[in-house]
Amino acid sequence: MQTIIVGAGFWGAVIAERMASVLNEDVTVIDARPHAGGNCYSSVDAETGIECHRYGSHIFHTSSEEVWTYINRFSAFNNYQHKVFTMCQGRVYTMPINLSTIESFYGRHMTPAEAEAFLQSEIARDRIENPANLEEKAISLIGRPLYEAFIRGYTHKQWEHDPKLLPAHIITRLPFRTNYNANYFADPWQGIPLDGYFKIFERMLDHPRITLRLNTSFESIKDQLGEDTLVIYTGLPDKLFEYEYGELEWRSLRFEWEVQEVSDWQGTSVMNYADTDVPWTRIHEFKHYHPERKVPFSSKKTVICCEYSRTWQRGDEAYYPVNDEKNNALYARYLARAEAQPNLILGGRLGAYRYWDMDKAIADALKTFREKIAPRFGKSAL
Ligand code: UDP
Repeated sequence: MQTIIVGAGFWGAVIAERMASVLNEDVTVIDARPHAGGNCYSSVDAETGIECHRYGSHIFHTSSEEVWTYINRFSAFNNYQHKVFTMCQGRVYTMPINLSTIESFYGRHMTPAEAEAFLQSEIARDRIENPANLEEKAISLIGRPLYEAFIRGYTHKQWEHDPKLLPAHIITRLPFRTNYNANYFADPWQGIPLDGYFKIFERMLDHPRITLRLNTSFESIKDQLGEDTLVIYTGLPDKLFEYEYGELEWRSLRFEWEVQEVSDWQGTSVMNYADTDVPWTRIHEFKHYHPERKVPFSSKKTVICCEYSRTWQRGDEAYYPVNDEKNNALYARYLARAEAQPNLILGGRLGAYRYWDMDKAIADALKTFREKIAPRFGKSAL
């Protein structure tokens, strides 16, 4: 049986690597882009020597020991711990919302217990019993004033949907704290790959049984595939079926890149912008991800990148699924259609239509390999 993997992001690369090294099977990986790595791809800026995440900041973090052990086979990580700040009405606050954010916002010192009691009284004012959407969920966690300052505008810019129409789970990605812990993620393992994300993909796919074909779309080769070819597809599910049931909604992003002639432009890797009169959602400054790279870190130049969110249209890169009821139901129809085909497996953030971080995509790929792929070849995944 011939196997083709469509898409060389994390999910596809894990499957390819496992098939080659565990099953000893040949596999061809194609990607329409000129590079592997999907949206995790990074490359070094020629002018400054700074490693840039070309599709926005990617911080590797996980609570899965299996995923951490697996990814460390392809790269060591620095000890970067992600901290984010947010600009609101000309002032900078800690994000996620923590005790320092609460104190700065309300202009007074509180102990954790006082902040907890104070927030409970703020939350109680809206009397939300069963939060059913992002807005209600956020208010039920932090109260309306903090929601309106830090969440409503950013969320509206990011999703172009009224937060009342968005699923509550999106906001549960963010922790809210009544202590001074300013870490964006609560996972025990975190870091940036020491020699860049692109090196991870180079190492994962560097195997005599793996053929990587870049600049190759699925549409351009699908008519050449034999009937018994196993297609492992990580692209847009609706495109695969020529949008037969309609289009899935996605959010896309646009990035504006600049080199600034200063050694440190914003003092941190990511600054969010909460106000709606600022059109971008956040600004990335990539040198802060690699303080261990002494030369570009201390040089008098820095690369910044302004991120704008926009509605996806055909031909754009898809970044975020819009997992509301309507789109989830449409996706379920495409999934059922795919599952009815014996030689087709859908996966990855796009193929599964899931808002996954990198570790979740890797965990799902490892599971899919064990449960669905190794058994097809009559072999154990171990
Ligand atoms: N969010 C917000 N204000 C912020 C940061 C995040 O309102 O300053 C909300 C917003 O709805 C966003 C969600 O929290 O879509 C998840 O944020 P996260 O940083 O996890 O998004 P990602 O990095 O995946 O874009």
